[in-house]
Formats: sequence, C-alpha cells, structure tokens
Amino acid sequence: ALEIFGVHKSYGKLTVLDGIDLRVRRGEVVAIIGPSGSGKSTLLRCINHLEKVDQGLILVGAEPIGYRLQGTRLHELSERDILRQRVKVGFVFQNFNLFPHLTVLQNVVEAPGSAQRRPREEVLDRARELLAAVGVADKADAYPRQLSGGQQQRVAIARALALEPEVLLFDEPTSALDPELVGEVLAVIRDLAAQGRTLVIVTHEIAFARETADRIVFMDQGVVVEEGPPAQVLDRPAQDRTRAFLQAVL
Ligand code: ATP
Ligand code: MG
Repeated sequence: ALEIFGVHKSYGKLTVLDGIDLRVRRGEVVAIIGPSGSGKSTLLRCINHLEKVDQGLILVGAEPIGYRLQGTRLHELSERDILRQRVKVGFVFQNFNLFPHLTVLQNVVEAPGSAQRRPREEVLDRARELLAAVGVADKADAYPRQLSGGQQQRVAIARALALEPEVLLFDEPTSALDPELVGEVLAVIRDLAAQGRTLVIVTHEIAFARETADRIVFMDQGVVVEEGPPAQVLDRPAQDRTRAFLQAVL
C-alpha cells in the first residue's frame, strides 16, 4: 500500500530525513517511535505531500506521490492533481485540526479535497455512519469547541475515513489529550486496525504500539535504525540506540 525509497529531506543545512526506506503492506499497522526531532512528523508530511522530498520516491497504491508516471519518466503534478492525490492518504493530526466554523457533520462531509461525485444524501449518510462508528453520532450538529479533545479527535478520524484513503497516517493522535481521554481515541484506532485498515501511527504510547502494531519502526536522526515485530524491537532490540531510547521512555 505504501512504499518509501531512499527519501532525503533537509531544511537548509539540517538533514531531517537521511535515506528512509520503508514498506507498508495493505492491512498492516506500523507504529513509528523515536526521539523528538528524529524526523517522524516530517516523514508523515512527506507521505502526504505536505512537504516535498529532496531525493527518493514515495509510492501510495503504486502511484508516485507528487508525480505522474509517463512511460519511464516522472512528471511533477500540478497543485490540483496533488490535492486529488492527497485524498488517497488520510492524516490525523496531533491537534485535531477541525474547521471551527463547521459543525461536526459538516467537518466530515466537507473533508478537504473531497471532490465527491456521489449524491449529497449518500455522502451525508456515510458521514453519519462514520460518526456513529467512532461514537460521536449524538454530536453531529455541535461545533468542535463544544466537544472534548477526545471527541474532537474521533471526529477528525471520521473525517479522514470519509475519503476512503488507501492509508491512514496518525501523528501522535493522543499527545494533546488529557490522560483520561487517551483511551477512547486509542480504542477507535484499535478498531480500525482490527478492520484491516492500513495504518501508520507515530506514537509515544509504547504499550499501545506493542498491542496494536504488526511492526514497530524505530527512527533516530532521520534514519530507520531498526524495525520488526513489537516483541523483537521492544523486548530484544538489536541496536544500542533503540535500547537507550526504550530505557528512557519505559
Ligand atoms: P517530535 O517527536 O518532537 O514530534 P519528530 O520526530 O516528529 O519530533 P520532526 O518534526 O520531523 O521531528 O522534526 C525533525 C527536525 O526537523 C527537527 O529538528 C525540526 O526542528 C526540523 N524541522 C521540522 N520542520 C521544519 C521546517 N519546516 N523548517 C525547518 N526545520 C524543520
Ligand atoms: Mg512530530
């Protein structure tokens, strides 16, 4: 579903991604962990083309992000085509990023880039279905500010799902939440994993990553230091850097 080949990204002299290779199969749940500043958010932003890579290639559903393959050549996409392509990748942010002036239902219906050609009624029905699935059906007509952080994040997840993305990216989806609201959001993500969706989750919740992810990727200083099943990476890390990180956070 997602393939990342030799991705490099720098801001001025600062190299943030220094040759990332990663493949995520359809239906796989991958948790990315690593110290602050290791490039986790930047990697997600590159996958969603919120940032342009300096070098390397990212494929989502075999389509190169930011490019169109013509014969054997890659041509840069126009802004419009980038927006259309972005729909293939759902993104759930740390700070929910809901539209404050729209109701919960409108937030899901008006998902950015939703060049929805489906009939309005069908779109609304689907939005209500998604809100019910994340447990906020009764908030459909409320505004984001009237919701708790956990409810807002669940709406954000419903909004991401409305676009039927090929892969869903989460950037620390619970780190802005009060501790007592973390569980309800993690439960929704766990459901998505059980449904066989393709998820890439940047998280500091190591216990959650262990039980939910098929694979853990440990990043440090812009590279994938180590990856493998949770029991391997978390309990028997092969690299000193992984061990040091886990000792610091566990
Ligand atoms: P955290 O766990 O704190 O969220 P992270 O692993 O997500 O960290 P990134 O946000 O990807 O790290 O940042 C990696 C490095 O890139 C940091 O040193 C950061 O300051 C730098 N960086 C990120 N975005 C930009 C930008 N737009 N311009 C300049 N530097 C940036
Ligand atoms: Mg980050």
